[in-house]
Amino acid sequence: MSGIDTLPPLRDVIATHELSARKSLGQNFLLDLNLTAKIARQAGDMSECDVLEIGPGPGGLTRGLLSEGARHVLSIEKDARCLPALAEIAAAYPGKLTVIEGDALDIDPLKHLTPPIRVAANLPYNVGTELLVRWLTPPTWPPFWQSLTLMFQREVALRIVAEPGSKAYGRLALLAQWRADPRIVMHLPPEAFTPAPKVSSAVVHLTALPEPRFPADPAVLNRVVAAGFNQRRKMLRASLKGLAPDIEDHLRTAGIKPTDRAEQIPLEGFCALAREIEKANKA
Ligand code: SAM
Repeated sequence: MSGIDTLPPLRDVIATHELSARKSLGQNFLLDLNLTAKIARQAGDMSECDVLEIGPGPGGLTRGLLSEGARHVLSIEKDARCLPALAEIAAAYPGKLTVIEGDALDIDPLKHLTPPIRVAANLPYNVGTELLVRWLTPPTWPPFWQSLTLMFQREVALRIVAEPGSKAYGRLALLAQWRADPRIVMHLPPEAFTPAPKVSSAVVHLTALPEPRFPADPAVLNRVVAAGFNQRRKMLRASLKGLAPDIEDHLRTAGIKPTDRAEQIPLEGFCALAREIEKANKA
């Protein structure tokens, strides 16, 4: 026997290593290995990739990533209590798993990874959103990753894939959809986790586009989108007036009605407006 066959069930792992879930670390564990293998498969073919996993906990998803054939997995875990359980997995998959203890928000994993790289994680939701925003806003594009496969609270997942005109549409949707292709690939009820959280979850898979969907300067686009959605109920001629003196003209040139609200404007419109404002700022 090799690999996953030699490892004990996750409930036993948790009992042996006394891994009682800590709320402060957002610990809601996945203990069903069929489910973790299914999530791992959503990441696509990993046989030629290094996989960065954040927050392995007792290692349910880690085991899924390895059993589904990842070339190498680098897991970053903040809770030192999980390290012995992860060491058992590393021993069952010699040379395939590296574990780093620490806070994923402080660690630069790139020196431990060889491209191509995929990212997979079941993280506390606040850390997950912060990392997603970082991964979507690197100084240069394409980013270090080919794809991200991430568990989110369902409501956040819906914000990532939201379309114009919906309540969920906002900065996160525009950020995710400008340079990536995000899809919800799984829905999970609270009972899938131990302990069960209050809310449902969903797995979002994002593939990095080779280049942005529409040209725009990232900083200008960010400013336009932030200003538009910070006052999402105002008409754009009011919410964006601080960005340029003749904002109504720029809106019209970009094909946007100055009386529209941010949530009605598709990504293409925001990019056109960002280009107009950049041109005006340069003139
Ligand atoms: N991946 C495991 C699973 O699916 O069962 C655990 C998921 S649990 C929702 C989140 C994990 O992330 C916990 O193990 C927690 O200790 C870890 N974690 C929380 N904050 C972290 C951080 N800033 N950096 C790295 N790991 C973190």
